[in-house]
Amino acid sequence: MINFYVFLGPPGAGKGTQAKVVASRLGIPQISSGDIFRENLKMKTELGERANKYIKIGELVPDDITIAMINERLSRADCAGGAILDGFPRTPAQAEALDRFLMENKSQIKKVPYIKVSEAELISRLTERLTCRAEGHIFHKRFNPPKVPGVCDYDGSELYQREDDKPDTVKHRINVYEEQTQPLVDYYHQRSLLIEIDGNQPIDQVTDDLVNLLDLAV
Ligand code: AMP
Repeated sequence: MINFYVFLGPPGAGKGTQAKVVASRLGIPQISSGDIFRENLKMKTELGERANKYIKIGELVPDDITIAMINERLSRADCAGGAILDGFPRTPAQAEALDRFLMENKSQIKKVPYIKVSEAELISRLTERLTCRAEGHIFHKRFNPPKVPGVCDYDGSELYQREDDKPDTVKHRINVYEEQTQPLVDYYHQRSLLIEIDGNQPIDQVTDDLVNLLDLAV
């Protein structure tokens, strides 16, 4: 069986940051639906233009568009040994589509780390978040600043504030999460796949907890 991991949690919980670490430990790719949409927007593809209508107002991109995009991505050769999913699934219909895809591809969900963070903390993290233009590396103005202001430590590209990280859109994204994505916590809990992680802790502590709970310690 090929193992996939689903990282669950509200926007700003640190899914992307932690998923990158775990992906590199396991030697499998991190697949972020948000990164793929942003990449498409940068390349001005039709998918990017369609998705951006929803992204910029903090709504979810419709399931049919998102599921087709992820199925295509997971079918590529680099996912043959599994992957970390970050930001997908976000609705029950997406979770069911993922189950079907995995079943058809002799794959399974191994674990679902659920990173829990208080709402006040989420707002502070998202509205002060900086994102790298080239690869989506993530920094925070106060808690995780880049070595050189405005420049990504990893690839030297420009850091910017995402349009949807502005305060009004952030609040709406958190509401959308509560309504549409929170039900997945139960969905995976009932299947004994959920591992709860305290995401209010410093980044390194969250990573340590994840490494221990996923049995990745070397
Ligand atoms: P993220 O980078 O994960 O915060 O995603 C940014 C935005 O992309 C979200 O607010 C949604 O508009 C869109 N998006 C990302 N992943 C999904 C998904 N699985 N389903 C629907 N929309 C998504």
